[in-house]
Amino acid sequence: MIRLSKSSISQSDKDAVLNVLDKEFLGMGEEVKLFEQELAEFIGNDKTQVVCVNTGTSALHLALECLDLNSNDEVLIPSITYIASFQAVKMAGATPVACEVNPNNLFLDPEDVLKKISKNTKVIMPVHYASNICRDSLDKIYAIAKEHGIRVIEDAAHSFGGEYLGEKVGYYGDIVCFSFDGIKNITSGEGGAILTQDNKLASRLKDARLLSVKGDTKNRFDGKRSWDFDVTVKGFRYHMSNIMASLGRSQLKRVDEFSEIRKKIVNLYIKYLNKCNNIELLDLDFDNIMPHIFVIKVLDGKRDALRQHLEDNGVQVGVHYKPNHKLSLFNNGSKLEVSEDLHSKILSLPLHVDLEEKDVVKISNLIIKHLN
Ligand SMILES: *Cc1c(COP(=O)(O)O)cnc(C)c1O
Repeated sequence: MIRLSKSSISQSDKDAVLNVLDKEFLGMGEEVKLFEQELAEFIGNDKTQVVCVNTGTSALHLALECLDLNSNDEVLIPSITYIASFQAVKMAGATPVACEVNPNNLFLDPEDVLKKISKNTKVIMPVHYASNICRDSLDKIYAIAKEHGIRVIEDAAHSFGGEYLGEKVGYYGDIVCFSFDGIKNITSGEGGAILTQDNKLASRLKDARLLSVKGDTKNRFDGKRSWDFDVTVKGFRYHMSNIMASLGRSQLKRVDEFSEIRKKIVNLYIKYLNKCNNIELLDLDFDNIMPHIFVIKVLDGKRDALRQHLEDNGVQVGVHYKPNHKLSLFNNGSKLEVSEDLHSKILSLPLHVDLEEKDVVKISNLIIKHLN
């Protein structure tokens, strides 16, 4: 069986975790402080604050929560994204409004954002689909946000380690959320991070991940507890643990190695599938991204048969993602033709750092023989 995705855990990753277990300080402390510092150095913008949390979903939710949305507020979001992005909006008590994506790269479509924006819109949440940032679209989205005085939260769960405008993803942006779950570009077991240059928001986020106990982050980083404190707003138990941070720190040391391998695998797919009939590759900035998933479009209604054929031959594949406006919780009868059409075509092929060239050859040959 060739797996669609998996973590890659080295001996040094294991040693790093064991080392923390030996110290018997498992909650949020020194390791999380260091992970945040190292992430900030990696991103390279000394104005950017990094707030680590327990999942990428928590990162999105906490960011939304700290913008104080109410039940009339709307968040514009591409329908084709992981359910986490939609549920995060729901958790924050606001309404996700499903938008179309660009069919060539599946990035949030700014034209549709303009159609769906209303006086209730408070946030636009583009997703770095398949690690890619469509510059033209993102520029337009920020221009729309500026004009309407609303915030942008970039769901960057796919794109950690990639580059954008010559800097690391996360260097730019209003609020940028990463995921470090088990199959993302680097992992801390589960985990996530929120990046922002808005200092007021950052300090709110730091409290809110620890039940909104004022200043608790600093105390925990100093190995202390807070006893005499005040609480003024709702808070969450979303902090990252030292166990998670130890794995995250160790994986961060491997990010260049991971990036090189992921890029190499994607280039092999492109090379082998280049002349295959009935498929289309996405138009992504392959030179600069650290690819998290590799998605093809299968044309002429052949996706499901190909999907079955690959599964029958021991190749795990996926569909990223079922449009969220088709899920019962979010279905308000709206029709998104581009997204629905894409949903019948997209197929994600195996991509992880332990995949070998022979696996890519096997997968590509299965596809080519089936479709040609
Ligand atoms: C993984 C993912 C998330 C959520 O991250 P978790 O760490 O799994 O909670 C959010 N959005 C997208 C697009 C993702 O792929």
